[in-house]
Amino acid sequence: MQTREPARYIGRFAPSPTGPLHFGSLVAAVASYLQARTNNGLWLLRIEDIDPPREQPGATDEIIRSLEHYGFEWDGEIIFQSTNSTAHESALVALIEGNRAYPCRCSRRNLENATRGAMGIIYPGTCRDGCDADEVAIRVRTNESDISFDDALQGRVSQRLESESGDFVIRRRDGLIAYHLAVVVDDEIQGVTEVVRGIDLMNSTPRQVWLQQLLEFRTPAYVHIPVITHANGDKLSKLTGAPGISGDDVEQTLVEALLALRQRPPSELAQVPLEEIWSWAIKNWQVGKLFGCKTVVKTS
Ligand code: GLU
Repeated sequence: MQTREPARYIGRFAPSPTGPLHFGSLVAAVASYLQARTNNGLWLLRIEDIDPPREQPGATDEIIRSLEHYGFEWDGEIIFQSTNSTAHESALVALIEGNRAYPCRCSRRNLENATRGAMGIIYPGTCRDGCDADEVAIRVRTNESDISFDDALQGRVSQRLESESGDFVIRRRDGLIAYHLAVVVDDEIQGVTEVVRGIDLMNSTPRQVWLQQLLEFRTPAYVHIPVITHANGDKLSKLTGAPGISGDDVEQTLVEALLALRQRPPSELAQVPLEEIWSWAIKNWQVGKLFGCKTVVKTS
């Protein structure tokens, strides 16, 4: 009897160049890197540069420099999401031609009175049966089936998209491909087998799983790690004033990232060279230590 080789583990880190790498994104990078390395897998770096209005000049270089400085080693070339635009467009066309997606002329203002749910406005389906306008977004149709996945740390996540988010945008009014569509196309092209990222994106995952189903893509495994917050509970992000990570004390900061990931590094680990910290981390990495964990407060 022939046995099929299990697919090789392929993980990725996919930062958007909207600012420098802050501590929260470093923690996500460390978690996805250690998962890939301990699974004897590949770790890909993908710069999600398909939203120029949100990008910050110089951020791409700064992110890459920081990752190098912290000793990350990615496999293969860096992938720039903007170079996959033909594949994004083909997926969009396939969804439209299959009547899975439709043009929508509703502006934010038109939707002001729509009900809001955990994921923002629940689209009421205004343009589902047709609309005419020059400047339109494209929305994908949803239904009430149960879209679920089993997160390795957070357990089963289920959504009924039609009532929880409504039909959602896959191409924006300004013509840009929306994040949900780009991310599933790119993960499929790159053969990503497991996505390790912050729990702040977990609410988006059922919409991505839905797109994978419509496009007949594989659904990777998901590991949503806790977000790092300030003491007041706000997520560390550019908006909440999180600074870029330090370029000076990389050993100390890396050990703090391991602490945030509940790996219990010995206190003297910050005194050893970077490579030795990585060796310790790879040898001792246990993602299960984060089981059920949703937030970690950054103390220093
Ligand atoms: N580019 C997204 C971000 O920086 C992450 C996308 C993902 O990991 O799926 O927040």
